[in-house]
Amino acid sequence: MVLAWPLDSSGAHDTERDKTIYSNEVERGRALRYSRIQEWLVLIEWAWSLLINIIALATGLSARLRTWAARIAPWRRDAVLPYATVVTILSFIASLPLSYCRGFVVEHCFELSNQTFRAWFGDQLKGLGVSLAIGVPLLQGAYWVIRRWPEWWWAILSALTAPFSVLMSALAPVLLLPLFNKFEPLHNRALAERIKALAAREGVHVADVLQMDMSRQTKKANAAFTGLGKTKRIVLGDTLLKEFSEDEVEVVIAHELGHQVHGDIWKLVALSAPVSVVSLSAAHYLAPPLITRFGARWGLDTEQGVADVAALPLLALIGGAALLVVMPILHALSRNFIEHPADRYALDLTGKRTAFISAMEKLGRMNLSNPQPSTLVKYLLYSHPPLQERINFARSYTSRKADR
Ligand SMILES: [Zn+2]
Repeated sequence: MVLAWPLDSSGAHDTERDKTIYSNEVERGRALRYSRIQEWLVLIEWAWSLLINIIALATGLSARLRTWAARIAPWRRDAVLPYATVVTILSFIASLPLSYCRGFVVEHCFELSNQTFRAWFGDQLKGLGVSLAIGVPLLQGAYWVIRRWPEWWWAILSALTAPFSVLMSALAPVLLLPLFNKFEPLHNRALAERIKALAAREGVHVADVLQMDMSRQTKKANAAFTGLGKTKRIVLGDTLLKEFSEDEVEVVIAHELGHQVHGDIWKLVALSAPVSVVSLSAAHYLAPPLITRFGARWGLDTEQGVADVAALPLLALIGGAALLVVMPILHALSRNFIEHPADRYALDLTGKRTAFISAMEKLGRMNLSNPQPSTLVKYLLYSHPPLQERINFARSYTSRKADR
């Protein structure tokens, strides 16, 4: 739900009109290099995780780990808990070199990071802690369902995805995000009051507007709408607040307010169920024939089939491949039905076209956004319209209010 994420960027066209984000070719070239490197590293990370799953399966490593886990399991020789714990830690270690390269080295090369290695590694360890605390019990529960309902587990787990997403959306802003950053009410009270008044005139009760110390990690700017019910909030990075004018901050808040007014968190929750159906049903239907054919060679228990936790890398491979097919569809829905309407809402609410455009340009420069994402990159990675498209839209749009 963020306004821009690291791969957000500007338009695919290369006309003079489109070159507004970067004032000169040096700046533009630097942004292009940065985003190309990041895009490649994302793709390499995907390929690497596929490869790790294949290796774990084909070398029999997963089977040996399960046999060991069953031996030390706390109850009824159920291997899931110790297996999932060790696999989570091993995956963390295996992905560390690439995370280090993408999240630390490249960020420092382009002078975007504010973190020492120690601070960066600390954040990684916290992330591992969260995966262990949430992911491992979740897997234990999932295997209980798989064994209890061998024919319908995929449907039951898919149905449980929506309530789980609701729970996570509601809890993340108060339980998870504060582990990494500090959240405080907007320091600029006058601005907060102005936004409240603006929203009240539209009959909207604005969620809490908070600021977070994003500068702990990065020089990049960002904003987001998160939470559900009582945890609903608009969050602005201190990096953004430092560089943006009050009018620019206002349009950014108005964009996030658009997400609140349109109930976009609920749209995302609603989308999570069909996504699970696709990936889990793919695993349910494709894994058994593969286990029958290759299971013995991989050391899997062919009697148990998918209920053998040693087959987890196979389920991850199939589910991951299915997600790869679904992701471009999800991103297209997000760009067209979540993010674009929030931009239109921001322009309608504030009537500040000039501030909207300069905010997008600043966001692009601060985040070294790609000035020319290819169509393929846009479809694979972009949950938001590229910045140049957003700017071009603002230029052509006649909002409900007179432009200021
Ligand atoms: Zn947004």
